[in-house]
Amino acid sequence: MRTTVGIIGAGPAGLLLARLLHNAGIDSVVLESRDRSYVEHRQRAGILEQGTVDVLRAAGAGERMDREGLRHDGIELRFAKQRHRVDFPGLTGGRSVMVYAQTEVCKDLIALQLKEGGPLLFEAEALEVEGAESGRPRVRFRHEGREDVLECEYVVGCDGFWGVARKAFPAGLSRVFERTYPYAWLGILADVAPSHDELVYARHDRGFALLSMRSPSVSRLYLQVPAGTDAEAWRDEEIWDELERRFETDDDWRLERGPITQKSVTPMRSYVHEPMRHGRLFLAGDAAHIVPPTGAKGLNLAVGDVVTLARALAHEKETGSPELLETYSTTCLRRIWQAERFSYDMTTLLHTSPEDTPFDARLQLARLGRIASFRAAETDLAEAYTGFPLDV
Ligand SMILES: Cc1cc2nc3c(=O)[nH]c(=O)nc-3n(C[C@H](O)[C@H](O)[C@H](O)COP(=O)(O)OP(=O)(O)OC[C@H]3O[C@@H](n4cnc5c(N)ncnc54)[C@H](O)[C@@H]3O)c2cc1C
Repeated sequence: MRTTVGIIGAGPAGLLLARLLHNAGIDSVVLESRDRSYVEHRQRAGILEQGTVDVLRAAGAGERMDREGLRHDGIELRFAKQRHRVDFPGLTGGRSVMVYAQTEVCKDLIALQLKEGGPLLFEAEALEVEGAESGRPRVRFRHEGREDVLECEYVVGCDGFWGVARKAFPAGLSRVFERTYPYAWLGILADVAPSHDELVYARHDRGFALLSMRSPSVSRLYLQVPAGTDAEAWRDEEIWDELERRFETDDDWRLERGPITQKSVTPMRSYVHEPMRHGRLFLAGDAAHIVPPTGAKGLNLAVGDVVTLARALAHEKETGSPELLETYSTTCLRRIWQAERFSYDMTTLLHTSPEDTPFDARLQLARLGRIASFRAAETDLAEAYTGFPLDV
């Protein structure tokens, strides 16, 4: 097989890149190790920044999102039983976010790709990227029990944190910046209307909790738990009791309970691999960087990477100049480090750590109080949450 751009991975990064390249008249082949149903049902992100929404619309993938997505103009911070709403449009000159699940973004992009785009092979596992520094990089992959080779002009690793593309970078070139956290998120999906119409981020001495939603009738809720927790160790009633404690307020707000349909534990990690380019091999999305989910940035960063890369590939096709491809890594990393900083700040603002002292708890409350009382601090949060521009 031969193509211009070989894309490994059909998560949001790989699927959107294939769509953007198709729209620019550049052919690609997408290799995805899992089956279609798995990719379409993997519960993950749910918050799309304004810029991500605009990109999906411009790519022709926004029709269902505009019909079914929920526009959110703010979030609530909850601490010391108090509630504080952060008003996004008022603080950012009109920006907001969209609640539309990653599963739905992937379904929309897969349908478009299969209808109009180049080949998208499911159950096609990339084994190795070869010849990244040569003019003709190749991806060795296994599909339907046979090994095959995809010959490309460029290869893009959109294969997430556990993928193979990053391994093709020479050890002397790779630099890794990393932090793990002593806690994780126990996430549930529940068939019950959300108890609040916007996301609620709660800081409590017992740990963090997040109220989110997937639709007007499906709630998504998270509890901070120790790293390594087994989701099945928590009974449904225990989860609801603990959520109730952490969301407690001084007023008559109530948490509605309903049947839990899914439980999972997500580890928390900050990770950046530099650089994001080696010869004709590029990394995009979680293959190059991970943020803890507190800032809702992972999917949005993946979108930023592939928009930058698609522009650079289109520029090279039109002008013959590789200039934007050569600056791809530094351009993306500026935005990525801003998102890393914001995600770290949100995480340490809201989670309790085993080594925390009462002093740390007071500092967290002071930081939250500052956001609630000073417009500059609140604006800083609103601007980062609704999204950094692509050319930050
Ligand atoms: C619980 C949770 C909540 C989150 N919440 C948010 C949020 O609210 N907002 C937000 O912006 N982000 C959030 N994120 C992060 C977001 O989901 C990820 O950043 C996003 O999925 C990254 O997309 P990606 O395409 O780079 O990688 P992935 O979605 O990981 O896709 C990689 C794809 O590559 C495939 N693959 C891997 N190896 C190979 C191989 N060898 N050959 C072929 N294919 C391969 C995988 O099967 C997968 O389909 C959350 C993540 C989690 C886990």
